[in-house]
Amino acid sequence: MDNTFGIDIIPDNDVQRIEALKRYKILDTPPEHSFDNLAKLAARIFKVPVSLISLVDAEQVYFKANIGMGKATGAARGVSLCSLAVLNPEVTVFENAPEEPCLLSNPNVAGKFGLKFYAGAPITTPDGFLIGTLCIIDQKPRTFSGEDREILKRLAGVVMDEIELRLSSIEEAEKLQLHIEEIAAINEELRTSNEELVHTELILHNSINALSLSEARAKYMIADAPVAIGVLTGTALIVESANTKILELWGKTNTVINQPLHIALPELEGQPFLGILKNVLLSNTPFFGNELKAFLVRNGRLEEAYFNFVYHPVKDSSGQAASIMIVATEVTEQIRYRQEIEDLNHQLAAINEEISSTNEELLSANLELKAVQEDLLGTNTLLAASEELKNIAIEQAKLGIWYQDTLSKKVIFSNRLKEFFGYYTDEEMSYEATIAQIREDYRDNVVREMELAIANGRSYDMEYPVVEFRSKQLRWLRATGKLNPALNGKEAYFSGTMIDITEQKEDDQRKNDFISMVSHELKTPLTSMNGYIQILALKAASNADTFAASVLERAGKQTKKMTTMINGFLNMKRMETGKIPIYKSVFDMAELVRETEEETIATISSHRVIFAPVARTFLEADRDKIGQVINNLISNAVKYSAEGSTIHVACTGKGNTVQVSVKDEGMGISEHDQARLFDRFYRVERKEMETIAGFGIGLYLCDEIVRRHGGKIWVESVLQAGSTFHFNLPC
Ligand code: ADP
Repeated sequence: MDNTFGIDIIPDNDVQRIEALKRYKILDTPPEHSFDNLAKLAARIFKVPVSLISLVDAEQVYFKANIGMGKATGAARGVSLCSLAVLNPEVTVFENAPEEPCLLSNPNVAGKFGLKFYAGAPITTPDGFLIGTLCIIDQKPRTFSGEDREILKRLAGVVMDEIELRLSSIEEAEKLQLHIEEIAAINEELRTSNEELVHTELILHNSINALSLSEARAKYMIADAPVAIGVLTGTALIVESANTKILELWGKTNTVINQPLHIALPELEGQPFLGILKNVLLSNTPFFGNELKAFLVRNGRLEEAYFNFVYHPVKDSSGQAASIMIVATEVTEQIRYRQEIEDLNHQLAAINEEISSTNEELLSANLELKAVQEDLLGTNTLLAASEELKNIAIEQAKLGIWYQDTLSKKVIFSNRLKEFFGYYTDEEMSYEATIAQIREDYRDNVVREMELAIANGRSYDMEYPVVEFRSKQLRWLRATGKLNPALNGKEAYFSGTMIDITEQKEDDQRKNDFISMVSHELKTPLTSMNGYIQILALKAASNADTFAASVLERAGKQTKKMTTMINGFLNMKRMETGKIPIYKSVFDMAELVRETEEETIATISSHRVIFAPVARTFLEADRDKIGQVINNLISNAVKYSAEGSTIHVACTGKGNTVQVSVKDEGMGISEHDQARLFDRFYRVERKEMETIAGFGIGLYLCDEIVRRHGGKIWVESVLQAGSTFHFNLPC
């Protein structure tokens, strides 16, 4: 702040002083008459041209009243002489300012205005703060007496009073304003509550209307309510009102209205209700009845009925019970239902018990089933293991396997089987291809056998050569097949196995070649030996050497046996190569059997061989070979049954065939062996067999001979019980 006085013009308490000034809310307010008049009065008393009431703020001096200083409303604190006056509680006087050193540079003094005289009395608040001045100014020097000072001081006191007065009137006005505002707010509230009141009145009005309406409705409702309602008045319990339902319940009409209850419902005498009602009136407390039984005359007869009800005392203005309201519902039906339900419940409990015992049974059955299931699981595991074993066996046995669906006719071949026919495992191989690869001379026969097996549902077991697809090499296969009937929901299907028997066949071939060679070689010396034996026998006979004759006879028999055996081998060889000749002639079977009988009786003494009578039956066949078959069967029966046992031979005509049967009581043949019995070189492997000589070609030759004649040979046998061999021939 610019200060022209050269001295400090800010008092120590300036902050508090300014606070005190601000309290009066007078700073920067427009001129007011009271202050103007006081300034005018000062100017007039001291006959000066200028009088000011100034208020000294922090930076500025405000003129609250300005007489003679034009339109100025204030001056800077650093210029105004009043700034000096507020430093002094007494009146500050400069009688001739230009002579005052501190005012020399003051623009009011040194400037155009040319101030010469200044006297300022401080305006002091009651608590001692100098907030401004009442000052008088002149442009001429003057003297200012002590009396003058006193008057100015008093006038400044009046200004202070006026400021105080002004403040209190401001505060009053503010309070008033507050009051007015409060009243306005109250007014506003009153206005809204008034509005609410008007609204409430409207609602009330509507409610009254609604009430009167609902009262009317209530009356109707009570009258037609589905609950029984009635009112009894006074100790006499006069029926004041009774709705339709209660009348119905009582079994009465509205004639009972205005009658005492005991007259309206005379049947109540002796029942507890009249007493209870009187008690309600006396005690002034309600009574609640729950499923109470009552006897009422309804429809002209006394009925038992049950009720839920309340007897409610209705108080008069004095608070005393004057009447009773009855509200009741009949629950007879419910009680009856409940009784029925209880009965049912009893029955259900019994059933429940039965069920729980059944449950227990089921539980134990369940446990058993569980055990069975566990067994099955075990079996399953075993089955899986046996399946595994089967696979291993198939692999080890180098078995080819095929499967044919009976419906789709589609055939599935195992990889090994494909290999047999010369196919790669990932190549498709058709059923037709496998047939085409069967060597021509076997093909038709194989197809026929397979078709027969399928048609009759029986199994087959054949050996045949096939030509490999690529290398054209010959391979011998043994093929089996059978129909597996539908089972466990699975359709029927054909399946079979094939095994490579090339090596075995080659062995056989070598064996055959050797045997036929040996047989050939043996045949000539044997024939000569036979000749020599016959010569010797003749000689012994002529010499009557009976011993030599009998020895030579036995030697002759053995040689004959040997010749037959060698002939058998040679026949077999011829048979295989298709070279065995069949010489057919017409002959009587009965005669052939008779001849066989004679021969048998002459040669077999170890067994009883019984021939059944045979009717004359002519057929065209190779007589010697058929005789050979019968002889073979008889000698087998002898070989494979105990000494002294019986053998039956029969020959019967059956339709267009003649059937020969040879039955023994011997060791029998297992089913497994029966299937292969007619194979070449096949012999049953059993302990007893070790002592019985044979090569396994007899039955093979029989089968060949019979088949060449268009007949069939088969066996029926039970182990240890005996066997019967049959063959038939067309005639
Ligand atoms: P073998 O020379 O061995 O008798 P076969 O071809 O005549 O040859 O017979 C083949 C096999 O059939 C015999 O080894 C024997 O095991 C069995 N066999 C034949 N006939 C009978 C029978 N009547 N009772 C029991 N087994 C028999």
